[in-house]
Amino acid sequence: MLIDGKLVEAEGGSVFDNINPTTEESLGQVANGSASDMANAVAAARNAFDNTSWATDTELRKRCLDQLQAALESEQEELRQELVAEVGAPIALTYGPHLDAPLKHAITWPREMIDKFEWSRSLGPADALGWGMQTERVVWKEPKGVVGAIVPWNFPAELTLTKLGPILAMGNTCVLKPAPDTPFNATRIGRLIAEKTEIPPGVVNVVPSRDHAVGEVLTRSPDVDMIAFTGSTATGRRIMEAAASTIKDVFLELGGKSALVVLDDAPLEEVLATAAMACIHGGQACAQASRLLVPRNKYDEAVEICKTSFENWKYGDPSVFENMQGPQINQTQQQRIIGLFDSAREQGATTVFGGGIPAHLEKGFFVEPTLFANVTNDMRIAQEEVFGPVLCVIAHDGDDDAVRIANDSTYGLSGGIHSGDLDRALAVARRIRTGTLSVNGGIWYGADAPFGGYKSSGIGRQCGIEGLEIFTETKLVGWPV
Ligand code: NAD
Repeated sequence: MLIDGKLVEAEGGSVFDNINPTTEESLGQVANGSASDMANAVAAARNAFDNTSWATDTELRKRCLDQLQAALESEQEELRQELVAEVGAPIALTYGPHLDAPLKHAITWPREMIDKFEWSRSLGPADALGWGMQTERVVWKEPKGVVGAIVPWNFPAELTLTKLGPILAMGNTCVLKPAPDTPFNATRIGRLIAEKTEIPPGVVNVVPSRDHAVGEVLTRSPDVDMIAFTGSTATGRRIMEAAASTIKDVFLELGGKSALVVLDDAPLEEVLATAAMACIHGGQACAQASRLLVPRNKYDEAVEICKTSFENWKYGDPSVFENMQGPQINQTQQQRIIGLFDSAREQGATTVFGGGIPAHLEKGFFVEPTLFANVTNDMRIAQEEVFGPVLCVIAHDGDDDAVRIANDSTYGLSGGIHSGDLDRALAVARRIRTGTLSVNGGIWYGADAPFGGYKSSGIGRQCGIEGLEIFTETKLVGWPV
């Protein structure tokens, strides 16, 4: 662990195994942080915020972020292999969203923004109360303070870096709590910070733990000013409840149940040729569209095209470049997914492809890429986040009906629309209540692009200007002109 600038063991030398989901074998051990380790990390972060120049010295922050970037790049290949091993991340994806893409932008963009961010803005003089006193009013943006950053296992390095970049650039200190299933990338980042940067002790602390309750220390501590959380909606809800006791700010990136809407003028063959991409990374991506909405009069044709795409889909060992789907993260997830597949069949869905655990893969928490037809939007498989390799094909009766079905979800994270007419697609996009939307296959993602959800998919935005602002407080000062 990294606490107060030192690489330390957990209290009492406690450790836990990090399991490779492909081989089911231990990759090695990691410090099993306790509640008191977490309390020490919070105290270190508090002290670093209150008693060092980190919050105010932008030159120091820029230098440190450059050092962190160089340090990360120096172990890029080790990070890559580690993500394949501990996450089961398809290696091809490490050249994009899992690693190389965030390594390019997640730290460098917020670092650049230190000089461009509007830290101060004048509202101009005013006699607001009508007392004849002209007052100059200025808004200052200041760091929030100590941020508890809690990350899940699905894109651990990406999510860690997209939190660390803005948190540090804006002048905050933090305690990072990685997910128990994927701790190595975080402890590596912690070691790089300790060994290869001048980031002052306590500014970043990394506390892995097998016990989710250790994360709760962060959410309840009066010394933590904000929680930045990515994970499930259920945990997000618990975090919000815990944070209420100290009126802590929460930023929540939660689950999704996104719909890909195909309008009747879209080139069906072209759009659905890649339908099996719903299974990328075993469907363990929050913004992945898992509901496919196609025109009712083209339903059978659409299912046939999807089926061909699934038949050509390659999955298995994540270190093989062609495999875009590796294992699920653990056995619990694997079994949960199979349970949801069973419920789909019980509720009347038809299994067109897959639907179970692959017999040919003896080891690993694999699930077959799965295509369900005859799905209606009220089924559990269409309402609950599966986080598995599945696509559900649902019929719609035109644009209004497609919008209704897409919005008939407690989630509101992402989705997509395909149409031969861009204006028509954009009109539909206006009506779908989600935080991001891809139109005709466009990719919206980026360190400069605000990402987050409506409804139960979260609160606030990560990345972009919005994602910098969430890590700041607003102070208003006024003086007589
Ligand atoms: P999870 O909610 O089980 O755990 C996420 C993190 O929270 C882990 O580090 C865990 O140890 C910690 N945690 C658990 N209970 C806690 C508590 N009571 N207090 C503090 N911390 C606690 O999520 P997961 O299963 O690891 O990840 C999958 C989920 O994450 C999916 O629902 C997915 O949609 C979501 N996700 C969302 C986004 C997004 O940006 N919206 C991105 C990736 C993943």
